[in-house]
Amino acid sequence: MKREGLILILSAPSGAGKTSLCRELFKKFPDMKESVSYTTRAPRDGEIEGEAYHFVSNEAFERMVEEDAFAEWAEVHGNMYGTALRTLEEARKNGIDLVLDIDCQGARRLKEQFDGGVYVFIMPPSMEELRRRLEGRSTDARDVIERRIIRAADEIKEARWYDYIIINDNFDVACQELAAIVIAHRRKTFRMMEKVGKLFDI
Ligand code: 5GP
Repeated sequence: MKREGLILILSAPSGAGKTSLCRELFKKFPDMKESVSYTTRAPRDGEIEGEAYHFVSNEAFERMVEEDAFAEWAEVHGNMYGTALRTLEEARKNGIDLVLDIDCQGARRLKEQFDGGVYVFIMPPSMEELRRRLEGRSTDARDVIERRIIRAADEIKEARWYDYIIINDNFDVACQELAAIVIAHRRKTFRMMEKVGKLFDI
């Protein structure tokens, strides 16, 4: 019996610290893999096809939607993003623990259609702190920051249906909490039985 891969879904408003938390997560668990989504947005400097994303045309994306190739998809900031069903099925079947960094709409669609994922919402400690972080970190124009804050307020309302919520006030604590969630799900009996079966005659 092959161990079933863990599908970990992370969502967060822009500025909540998801990217840094993910980086730490992969340091702590180097065997976890990042799900590579499909997107219609243009590659940014340094982004490599098949690593950051699969970069596809609007037509190719539409075709995948029509063929039901996506486990979920959504429009984010005017571009299309989607997770291929095959990516999830293969990881799960091959015992690979996969991390999906997807927006709330996509996560909700996935939860409705795909069984067994673990949904984690990462929050800033307050709207004031979120504003401080967004203003501090970026050279973005005022109106871009304002739009992100309005969007963040909407996204935070979605947190209620996630399985776990992490408030990223203290970064180290937030990292520990995310690691604790991963460890707990890796220790689920059904994920341990393959190993136990090899160790003991049960
Ligand atoms: P970026 O273009 O900055 O890489 O990503 C923008 C947003 O798209 C992020 O909030 C990210 O969570 C979301 N995103 C990335 N891939 C997917 C995906 O496959 N599905 C959905 N629903 N959102 C995604």
